[in-house]
Amino acid sequence: MAITDKIYVKNHRQLSSQLETNIPKGAFKGATLDVLFQGEGLEKLDEATRERVLDFSSDFLDCACDNNPYCGCPERKFVQYILELRAQGLGPNAIVDVMTDDYMVYAYSGDVLSFLDNGVRTLEAAEGLARVEGTDEMHDEIRRTKQDLAK
Ligand SMILES: [Zn+2]
Repeated sequence: MAITDKIYVKNHRQLSSQLETNIPKGAFKGATLDVLFQGEGLEKLDEATRERVLDFSSDFLDCACDNNPYCGCPERKFVQYILELRAQGLGPNAIVDVMTDDYMVYAYSGDVLSFLDNGVRTLEAAEGLARVEGTDEMHDEIRRTKQDLAK
């Protein structure tokens, strides 16, 4: 399962009742993206919640793909966002705190940790491959990314 399958909407029951519709807990579930991040009725949300929902839309659902939000860009951008927080030196707990602060979504820090671990292992494999077949630049870039991730 991808890490984005393990990102949840904070207070999703409360949100559902404010919106008078049932939304799934998973932030990247199709129905959540439809209702919460693309749908109507956002004026029913309290201001703090609405702001975060709108921030999420403008940061992750802003691509021009025909099949937005099912094009994969939102997930890709969210993964990028997590990696950037990691590169700033944040650990799994702090990453979860920041995403809740920014977008009112959360994950279990254990899931974030294993996502980061897997990332390091994937990059190690890619680094090995780049050493054999790739250019020096590619090799350097992978190594730098890995160092950021493993901080
Ligand atoms: Zn897209």
